[in-house]
Parts: sequence; C-alpha cells; structure tokens
Amino acid sequence: MPDTANNPNRKSWISVPTDSDFPIQNIPFGVFLTRDDVITIGTRIGDIAIDLGALHQLGYFNEIPLTDDIFLQDTLNDFISDGKKTWRLVRNRIAEIFDVKNETLKNNEEHRKIVLFTLDEIEMQLPVQIGDYTDFYSSKEHATNVGTMFRDPDNALLPNWLHIPVGYHGRSSSIVPSGIPIHRPKGQTMPADASEPVFGPSKLVDFELEMAFITTDANLLGEPIPIEEAEDYIFGMVLFNDWSARDIQKWEYVPLGPFLAKNFASSVSPWIVTLDALEPFRTDGPKQDPKPLPYLNYKGKKSFDINLEVDLSPENGAPTTITKSNFKYMYWNMSQQLAHHTINGCKVNSGDMMGSGTISGSTPDSYGSMLELTWKGEKPIKMSDGTERKFINDGDTVTMRGYCKNDKVRIGFGEVSNKLLPPFNPKKVKK
Ligand code: MN
Repeated sequence: MPDTANNPNRKSWISVPTDSDFPIQNIPFGVFLTRDDVITIGTRIGDIAIDLGALHQLGYFNEIPLTDDIFLQDTLNDFISDGKKTWRLVRNRIAEIFDVKNETLKNNEEHRKIVLFTLDEIEMQLPVQIGDYTDFYSSKEHATNVGTMFRDPDNALLPNWLHIPVGYHGRSSSIVPSGIPIHRPKGQTMPADASEPVFGPSKLVDFELEMAFITTDANLLGEPIPIEEAEDYIFGMVLFNDWSARDIQKWEYVPLGPFLAKNFASSVSPWIVTLDALEPFRTDGPKQDPKPLPYLNYKGKKSFDINLEVDLSPENGAPTTITKSNFKYMYWNMSQQLAHHTINGCKVNSGDMMGSGTISGSTPDSYGSMLELTWKGEKPIKMSDGTERKFINDGDTVTMRGYCKNDKVRIGFGEVSNKLLPPFNPKKVKK
C-alpha cells in the first residue's frame, strides 16, 4: 500500500502558514466539538479543521470500505481498530481531496461550509478512550539523573535498566487534553530531617516532557507481538506531559514505583500524528550496549527525529523556553517497548497509550523535567520576567511543542498546554 499522502511536493488548496505544524503532509487525526455542538472525528490542514464525519456522509470516502458511522464517533478507537491499511487509505484520500489540483470540494461552496471549520469554532477533545496507560522510563540520561539524585551517583542506573525497557502501569482516568487546568495535588511526604510524614499540598510539582504512542488491537491474550511487527500496531503519537509531585514520589515510590505522585494528571496534545506521517523522519537511536536479549533486537531505524521544547509561563506573563530535547535521545525505542510489554502475553487494545518516559538529552539545557533542570531545586531557573523557579508555581502554564523538519517538509504536533491551579478546595456545604 503506497503512502501517497507523504508526497513532499504536494500543495493544498487550503492555505498553510509558514512553519505550520499541519501542512498537507501531516494529516493527523483528532476528535472535536463543532460550532453546532456536534462531536466528530476530524483532521487539520493549516489552521482549518476538517470534519471527516461530514465528508464521509457527503460521499467523499465512497471508494474505501468504511462503516457509515466510523467518523461520527466521540473517540478514534473504532477507526484505529480498522488497522493500518485503512488508516493509509483514508490519509491518502484526504491528501487527494485537498490537493491543490483537485477542484471537487474546493469548488463546492455548499460542501465546504459543512466540512471546514476555523479553529475558534471547534473544541478539541481527548482523541481516544484510553483503556490502559503504561509509562516507560526509557531515557538513559533521565534515569541516570534521577538515580543520581534520589539514590546513589555511583550506581545511578539499577542493574536491570540496560536490559529491560522499564515501565509501570498508570491510570487512564486522569489523562486530559491540552487546555484543561490541573490542580496541585495533596499527599503524604516525608520532609528532610523529619521523623514522621506530613500531609499537605505537594511543594514540588513538576512536568515530565514525554511523548506517547497509541496502539491498535494487537494480539490475543497470551500472544507476544514480535518486535519486527510492533510498528504495524502503532497508530500514531502525541505530546505527553506526565505531571509529577516529586516530594510525594520520593516518599512513596519504594518498593513498587510511582503511585499518587503521578496519577493525579497527565496531559496530551489533541492531534494524533500517524506513524506513517513520521516515516520521513526516521533515525537511529543511541547504540545499545550491552546488546539486549534476542526478543528486543531490532533491524533498521526505529527512532524518530522529533524536536521537543517546553515553555513555562507565569500567570499573565511571557513564556520562557526552559528546555529543548529530542525524541531520538530515547535509549529504548517504541518497537522494543511494545515487544517487551507483550512478551509475557499481556493484551494490548485499540486506544491504549504508552508514555515514553521523560526525554532528557545529555546537556543540562536538554533535560526533560524541573527536577533535573534545577537539580532538585539547587539551581533555580531564571524566567524572562526576572522571577525564579525551582518547581512549578500555582498559576504557571506548561506548554510543550514538538516538530520534525527536513529540507522539504516540516510537520508537528501542535502543543499540549495546561495551567497549574492551587489545590482543589471542596465546596463547603451550607447548612
Ligand atoms: Mn513519566
């Protein structure tokens, strides 16, 4: 099945601003609420959102075997279940419909009015119903930094780390789309030099710069996914902020790993960029030494060159870019993660989400969390308004962006941007 949607020379009749994340070569998938309060599956070119449910009803996908209501849904799960061949047919067809040389929809004003929306007419939703969420811990630099700070600089990486894509099961119930504010969590911590734990708002709220991949139904219970097939079951990727409370984490994480320090919120960018769209940006990951066990050995380029950055903005203040990293720094790639996740027969479903783990580079300006950037708060970050941050303050907004660029095409993920609110205060019941 040729992937004609990636043709770098194609232009759209929808105008695309310079440096847009969404040229016609991207064609991501998302779910949005329209100006008429209808929920639909859609895509985006430039700053125009496209209602795929309406396009399908108008007959624009007649040559593709799709059920009538496949895009008239509030999640992408069923479409993702249709599999890679269908994703490709649909993306290729969308590229054709919006190609500058195709005048069918371009010249049909009535249809255009039904199908096209400006961004201020829509509200993006979570793109999938996430059944299960797993978070890996796959950046060697991040694991080394955290191990150095939390445990022992001489044994920063635990003995299993270079052999296993380490991960834990998180909560899907608290994953929210960009734009939804997050409350500072309360919890139990053990202050330095104290002998008893205390309860209260976390003092060390942090972001984690991650990406996540979304799977399709991949296997039967008991059936491992071979590493060479793993990418066939990955629909696409989003930016992922795995909000973390470092003081709660430090006290609770032994021996079973993160729990309440992580499950109060994670936020995702709303457009899923398909693995197909990312194809031109394949690259090699870091060399793996020691060589992993055979079920984790892979051939070819399994990493992707995705530039990542994080802005921190005070309430009503200007943003400061506080880090720049890249998805290609990940030691363990997505194929290894999915092969490992299922090697014991664990079943993976459509709409499952797998976080990469914090993506830190090797230099201090490329670290993927405040914990590392400020080295536990010892080296505060200077903001452009003159204030300093050790961790995230109430009222601050964390914005993550990601894009790929070669000499012909730039595609990106848009952003995931969420504000940190003070702790949740239950309403007092009046008597
Ligand atoms: Mn994480």
